[in-house]
Amino acid sequence: MVASIYLLFIIWRMNYAMESTPQNRLEQIRHRLLSAASTAMRAPTSVRLIAVSKGHPAASVEALMACGQMCFGENRVQEATTKFGAMHQRNQLELHLIGPLQTNKARQAVELFDVIETLDRPELAQALHKAMAATGKRPRLLVQVNTGLEPQKTGVTPDGLAGLLALSHQLDLPVTGLMCIPPAGEDPAPHFRQLTSLASQHSLPELSMGMSGDFESAIACGATYIRVGTALFGERSKP
Ligand SMILES: *Cc1c(COP(=O)(O)O)cnc(C)c1O
Repeated sequence: MVASIYLLFIIWRMNYAMESTPQNRLEQIRHRLLSAASTAMRAPTSVRLIAVSKGHPAASVEALMACGQMCFGENRVQEATTKFGAMHQRNQLELHLIGPLQTNKARQAVELFDVIETLDRPELAQALHKAMAATGKRPRLLVQVNTGLEPQKTGVTPDGLAGLLALSHQLDLPVTGLMCIPPAGEDPAPHFRQLTSLASQHSLPELSMGMSGDFESAIACGATYIRVGTALFGERSKP
C-alpha cells in the first residue's frame, strides 16, 4: 500500500518534470498549432511556429533545435547577435527580428536576420534599402501595422500602409507580408481579421500574428507565422 502510493507519487513527479521541459512544451504547442489549423481547414504546413527566445539563453534555443525547431524570433539586434551570431548551425535556422529597429542598426539587422518583421516608417525603408545594397543580403520584410492605433506602439497606421508599401516597392524592398501586435486586454480577433484583409488588399502572402495567449485565434484568422515565447520557454527575466 505504502509502496504503491509512493510509486504513484514518483509517476506524478515524472509527469510534472516532463511537462515543464522546453521539449515537452514544444510538443504541446505543435499539437495545438496542428489542431487549430485543422479546425480552420488549413494545411498543417501553412502555419509556422516562431520560437521567441528573447530573454532566454542559447542553451534553451539549442534544446529546441535538437527537437527540430529551426525558426526563432528575437526583439533586439544586439541580443540576437550575441546568441545566434556565432552558432555553427546558423545557416539551418530562420531568424526573425520582431522588435522595433533603429535606423543605425539596419545594417547589422540585414546581416543577421532572415526576416525583419518591423518595417514601420519611411526612414527605416531607406536605411534597409542602403543596408541591402551595401551587404548584398536581402532578408524578407514584413510591415508592422498598428491596428489598435496605440500611440505608445510602433507600427504604421492602417491608413499609412499603402504609402509605405509604395515606397518599399519603389526601393525594390522584398516586402512579403504584414505583422501586428493587438492591444493588450482586448479581443485580438478583430485586429487579426483587419490585418488579413489589409494583406489581401495588397496581395501579400505572409501574416505574422498571434502569441502565447492568442495564437489559436490568429490561426483561425489566417496567420502564416505565430510568435510564441512564454508558452515555450517559460517566464522571461525582465531586460
Ligand atoms: C515577446 C514577443 C512575443 C512573444 O510573446 P509571448 O506572450 O511570450 O508568447 C511575440 N511577439 C512579439 C512582437 C514579442 O515582442
